[in-house]
Amino acid sequence: MANKTALVVSAHSADFVWRCGGAIALHEEKGYDVTVVCLSYGERGESAKLWKQEGMTLEKVKTERRKEAENAASALGVTDIQFFDLGDYPLELDTDAKYKLVDVIRKVQPAFMLSHSQYDPYNTDHMYATRIALECRMIAQAWGHNPGEKVLGAPQLYLFEPHQTEQMGWKPDTFLDITSVWDKKRAAIECMQGQEHLWDYYTNVAENRGNHFRRNSGGQAGGRPAKYAEGFQSVFPRTVDEL
Ligand SMILES: [Zn+2]
Repeated sequence: MANKTALVVSAHSADFVWRCGGAIALHEEKGYDVTVVCLSYGERGESAKLWKQEGMTLEKVKTERRKEAENAASALGVTDIQFFDLGDYPLELDTDAKYKLVDVIRKVQPAFMLSHSQYDPYNTDHMYATRIALECRMIAQAWGHNPGEKVLGAPQLYLFEPHQTEQMGWKPDTFLDITSVWDKKRAAIECMQGQEHLWDYYTNVAENRGNHFRRNSGGQAGGRPAKYAEGFQSVFPRTVDEL
């Protein structure tokens, strides 16, 4: 039987590392094939350190960002990383680009998807990426789109943790213990040479979410001793036979 699969839709090429690198590494270890789509390199808006170097050009920044993302992806064990190179600040997708993402979704047939918070006034590319992920998920479910292809079921869309959490209206309902793969996530984080100022920040976030994991898994009355975790907000309800 084919492996289970998951799909990450990342607005810029480093976002998947900070926000769901643990989830990626953990599911790869569980035998999932994880595909990451980077809609842009974040070459204009998220590469300040590179732009401060002498003689920098857009092409050089993109090449550098691609290298960093590929290194991070291999540290996490990502099965497949795809760069759509659609430009950032602002990120925009025309209909053809949306169909390209729909093709990926249908091909991957993810058991679950991951993308950004639905609101982000600091970074509209992020919330736009989620809108696109939802729109393309919907198109991938439509029997009338490229009839004859396998249509998509109903994978959960998990929204990963944004920067400046409280400003985004993001509220986690799921905590994932990533302690066993923390070393991989930290190694992936350290591939992001252009954003060194975020390395310790996202280590702190993982420790704080580890605390929430411990508290919500039973606290001192038998909770799991998770040291690092990632939080997610799910968009769709779960369908269950038992609570
Ligand atoms: Zn970003």
